[in-house]
Amino acid sequence: MIEPPGRDHHERDRLGGVCTNDGCVPTRVLAKAARLVRDTEQFTDFGLSGGRPLVDFRRLLDKATATVERVHQMKDLPTRLQQAGVHLVAGAGRARFADAHTIAVDDGRGEFRAERIIVCVGGHARRLPFPGSEQAVTHSDIWAFEALPASALVVGGSATGCQLASVLAAFGSQVTLLETADRLLGVESAGAELQLGGQRGRPCGPSVADATDRVAVAASSDIRT
Ligand SMILES: Cc1cc2nc3c(=O)[nH]c(=O)nc-3n(C[C@H](O)[C@H](O)[C@H](O)COP(=O)(O)OP(=O)(O)OC[C@H]3O[C@@H](n4cnc5c(N)ncnc54)[C@H](O)[C@@H]3O)c2cc1C
Repeated sequence: MIEPPGRDHHERDRLGGVCTNDGCVPTRVLAKAARLVRDTEQFTDFGLSGGRPLVDFRRLLDKATATVERVHQMKDLPTRLQQAGVHLVAGAGRARFADAHTIAVDDGRGEFRAERIIVCVGGHARRLPFPGSEQAVTHSDIWAFEALPASALVVGGSATGCQLASVLAAFGSQVTLLETADRLLGVESAGAELQLGGQRGRPCGPSVADATDRVAVAASSDIRT
């Protein structure tokens, strides 16, 4: 069916997809904390004193998780969808096309027919297909970290990789970002790259530009998949 093998399913049990459960929402909590840490570097310019804050990474991750819960409560997606007239079938399990107008689900709930079937199953972090790659973690595993890693190698220099690399670097991890292409943010617009200065080796995103000195960036042709 639609689902590739080995897929992470941290968001699978809940509505909201990656963004709410595993992506934008919790990552923005990390990004906000990183910004606060970076802001301390300007303290002296503004006549403020105080050292760089210590980061209790586990506590920060708990805050990110709590924020996800709060967003769920505020959004209450099942109720809103039902109010909008959507027939919601949550927890449907694996689905497959029975024919061009029919989806069958595994859990015995039968088949669902429609004139048009729109597949919105999203994307997910894929594991690299070389020996030992099972040792690596995906962005989905970060929320269970017990502590900030002393060092991190982030593979993939598009939006998610750049953002995670920059926040970890802001907290004090030694971060290396590996990217096969010769520029970061490969799938983003050229305009975005211009905004970032278009410099090779310069990590991306407004929230990350300040952390460039702490992220080593490497291009690698060895990690093509
Ligand atoms: C760490 C991180 C940070 C991010 N930050 C941002 C950001 O700041 N801004 C931004 O715009 N984007 C961000 N993104 C990207 C954003 O999360 C995705 O672009 C967005 O979630 C895609 O939404 P979607 O609905 O297409 O897919 P998904 O969010 O992946 O949702 C797909 C849904 O389909 C369900 N599904 C999968 N397979 C099946 C199946 N066979 N049958 C039934 N249901 C199925 C899944 O359970 C899931 O609920 C970030 C992503 C990550 C990983």
